[in-house]
Amino acid sequence: MRILKMQPKFFQEFIESLNKFGTIYGPVKKDGVLKYDRVEAFDEVVFDGERPMIPIKKLFHPKKFDMFHFDKDGFTPDYSSIEKRVIIGVPPCEIHSLLRLDEIFMERPVDPYYAKQRENSAIIGYSCLPGESCFCKSTGTDIVEEGFDLFFVNLGKFYLVWVGSSLGHDMVLEREDYFDENVTHNDIEEYIDWRQARDKMFKASFDFKSMPDIMELSYNSPIWDYFADKCLSCGQCSMVCPTCNCYTVTDVLEVSPDTKGRRERYWDSCMFVDYSLVAGGHNFRGARADRLKLWYTHKLKAYANEYGKPACIGCGRCVRTCPVDINVLTVAQALTEMEVPAQ
Ligand code: SF4
Ligand code: SF4
Repeated sequence: MRILKMQPKFFQEFIESLNKFGTIYGPVKKDGVLKYDRVEAFDEVVFDGERPMIPIKKLFHPKKFDMFHFDKDGFTPDYSSIEKRVIIGVPPCEIHSLLRLDEIFMERPVDPYYAKQRENSAIIGYSCLPGESCFCKSTGTDIVEEGFDLFFVNLGKFYLVWVGSSLGHDMVLEREDYFDENVTHNDIEEYIDWRQARDKMFKASFDFKSMPDIMELSYNSPIWDYFADKCLSCGQCSMVCPTCNCYTVTDVLEVSPDTKGRRERYWDSCMFVDYSLVAGGHNFRGARADRLKLWYTHKLKAYANEYGKPACIGCGRCVRTCPVDINVLTVAQALTEMEVPAQ
């Protein structure tokens, strides 16, 4: 992979020049809230800092949108909200989360809405330092080697820039004079030192490798009932998790003599009590313990069995969000120690 060097004085101008390739999006602070959104001004972008609570999945798998409009003659897909975008400031864990979602939405059958969002979006990665609740090192998602067009590592005195695609190459060509091909041995050593220092900054961790077996052995553990008693079924953990991808659809009919309307699609959560409700009033997961087991089986076992890596990318959002302290770390610890946590 091609690696280049850039002096910090060129960074802003280069990023602003990317609007030639699409509308620029990124982590921006608006009205005090950090979120992935359209960038109106460079100085509202938060590089290197805290992560938005709602992950980047919202730009590819939106919270709510119209899938198609229908009438008595058929239906017309609605792709009107999809535009060419350049998403800047994307940390490694979020890039990994998109690679996970690709495996879900881009396999047969392909989800055309997600696929079009992916086709129309360039990813400009940016290095980060771990926050209090980040444990991406444990899930192998702290470094990224694919899934971006360009990736900037901020080493203070200069950036090292990885070129990850032909589109990334075209972006560099547009401002070739900003980049230096001459990456020296000393530059690489600075990068290695930075990585070693960053590795030491992680405070949270867990042993993912043993989790599929532990999950298998813990199906009837009383630990699930302990957590179920606390869980509020609020679904916040699903909303903030970058790899949660469940959705539901509703047909909205217009009040008119003709049969016409639209189909809406919006996020759902397997933590909601009616998620597994079927005709006749039967509910496969009416018990909270069963819903928790499903969620954690997906994160820590089933996905790994299928794809060889965890569905959890270690972003720590469930740690920061759950109002009753149920998250990957507390659940993994309780299952590993086979102990109901002290009240
Ligand atoms: S685990 Fe926490 S965040 Fe998730 S549904 Fe239960 S209470 Fe809400
Ligand atoms: S399970 Fe928690 S830490 Fe893992 S990806 Fe989801 S929100 Fe992030």
